Amino acid sequence: MNTQELCPLCGEGHVTTHSEMVESEYKAHKAMLPLLFKQCDACGSDFAGAAEAKLNKRALMAWRKQVDGLLTGAEITALRRLYKMTQGQAAQLFGGGPVAFSKYENDDVAQSEAMDTLLRLVRRSKDAFWALVEEKGMEAQFMRTPVTVPTQSNVLHITAQRGNTDRPDPRYNPRQLRSYSGGAMPWKQ
Ligand SMILES: [Zn+2]
Repeated sequence: MNTQELCPLCGEGHVTTHSEMVESEYKAHKAMLPLLFKQCDACGSDFAGAAEAKLNKRALMAWRKQVDGLLTGAEITALRRLYKMTQGQAAQLFGGGPVAFSKYENDDVAQSEAMDTLLRLVRRSKDAFWALVEEKGMEAQFMRTPVTVPTQSNVLHITAQRGNTDRPDPRYNPRQLRSYSGGAMPWKQ
């Protein structure tokens, strides 16, 4: 990959990124997890830079969440998108601080058991979601009743997506997508 990057240790060789599977152990569970590192072609040193260290940590955290029975980052992203929420809105609704959902979804940190319970409750019950919206006084942000406009140019079809959660949809516009629906609905822009 980065064949032009100079080795910071010897200053002569070039480093390339490698990956190998390494056994990890957590709470008596074992798993083979990918470990990224860089290796110098001159001095042979291997080390993890900031980018590799971050990805290694995320892979480990994602697995630990599974062992602990917590929702994975991808599952939390799917839940948030199911209700058409931004990460900021999710933090406002569930708590955890302004960057909490970015960290949960990237597997940078594990959500607490209490947070996990709340998320699971809302995932299985739309009524729980709307009760929480009401409790937090966020009704204006999540309008329940869509306005149906028969003109073609103003109709936007919304389909709930549960899969493909790796990247946020670049077309996502919370002002257009604030209503909850299991299927397509027209919406006034
Ligand atoms: Zn070197």
